[in-house]
Amino acid sequence: MAILKLNWYLVVKRSSCSFLGEQECSPYKSIRWLSISPSYSRLIFTNFFSITLLFCSFEQNLLNMSIFADKLILWYRANQRTLPWRDNPNPYFIWLSEIILQQTRVVQGLPYYLRFVEQFPTVQDLAKAEESEVLRLWQGLGYYSRARNLHTTAKMVCEKHKGIFPTQYSELLKLKGIGTYTAAAIASFSTGERVAVLDGNVFRVLARNFGIFEDIGSGKAKKIFTQTAQELLPEGNSAEYNQAVMEFGALHCKPVNPDCPNCIFQVSCYAFAHKKQQELPVKIKKTKIRIRQFDYLVWEHEDKVLMKIRKEKDIWQGLYDFDLVENMDFFETDFGKKMEIKSVSPIFAHILTHQKLNVRFVRLEIKEKAVFEQIKAEKGLQVFQRTEIEALPKPILIANYLANHFF
Ligand code: SF4
Repeated sequence: MAILKLNWYLVVKRSSCSFLGEQECSPYKSIRWLSISPSYSRLIFTNFFSITLLFCSFEQNLLNMSIFADKLILWYRANQRTLPWRDNPNPYFIWLSEIILQQTRVVQGLPYYLRFVEQFPTVQDLAKAEESEVLRLWQGLGYYSRARNLHTTAKMVCEKHKGIFPTQYSELLKLKGIGTYTAAAIASFSTGERVAVLDGNVFRVLARNFGIFEDIGSGKAKKIFTQTAQELLPEGNSAEYNQAVMEFGALHCKPVNPDCPNCIFQVSCYAFAHKKQQELPVKIKKTKIRIRQFDYLVWEHEDKVLMKIRKEKDIWQGLYDFDLVENMDFFETDFGKKMEIKSVSPIFAHILTHQKLNVRFVRLEIKEKAVFEQIKAEKGLQVFQRTEIEALPKPILIANYLANHFF
């Protein structure tokens, strides 16, 4: 029977190779070929022997999948990092850690997580906080909409769920800032619900192991990867498996220099066999980087400074910055030619997801209080004592300037 199974696996694999061409020849294609090709399936069903082979193939695939999961879990038990949000099924802590770690490395996110848990030990504490307090604690992590959503969701959990954080995948998806990945993580880690996580690490591990060449930014890829990830989930141990596959991607099958020579999947990995590690996963870049020039005007009078809260619906909403002149050299303006300049900072390059900001800070000392008040009123700015600025939530760009060139 074992030989029969092996033969069948090779028959399917070879058929799909010759049919689909070299690049498409992957275990992933072989596994799925029966389900995507009705004509091929009809061919197989023409005699009893083929039916037997078909079931053997399915059995083989299930076996392969469970071996994959078992190997991964064993690796995880031996190699996992000790992290404070692991081994605690409290969905509030899992949620905090997941939101903080989106687009953030563990080493950078860990101190933020610890500060949030200390300051807001329950979801009720977070809901009661002022938004500015949450933003201030978040300062430096970037993507501030995550912090605003965090706060909104905490309030929602208190209002609609009596302060009890939901754990069901379908319920979690209704909360602000919680997408399919975060909902799957919270549901599986807290209660073991059988839903597979799919983040950048999982895309990479699956694409490389099973030779999936679909662009991971496409809707089609999302479907394929979700289905594959779901099929790999072992019965009754989704929490550990989900953590294992993400940890394996983060520590071992890394984007650059994956540790292939010491890998548990070396004999079966498609990318290793075909030297496609750098090509997988496929990610087609579509977004163009926009370059913006900012001149920030720091208006000062004695120990007072003018700042402004960003009200626009943008990534810095709710944070404080200075009077902004964009895409115009301040020194070339009529106003700029007349002003007495206290100092000009070097240019700060600040990278956002789809933008590069080149930023200069110009300090302007206003001698007369009446002029200072007039500028404040005309430009809709707020007055702060120098000593008050530190406590305000600010983009990290502003915080860095203040720390290095102002105080
Ligand atoms: S062999 Fe290399 S590419 Fe394949 S899973 Fe292991 S580390 Fe990743």
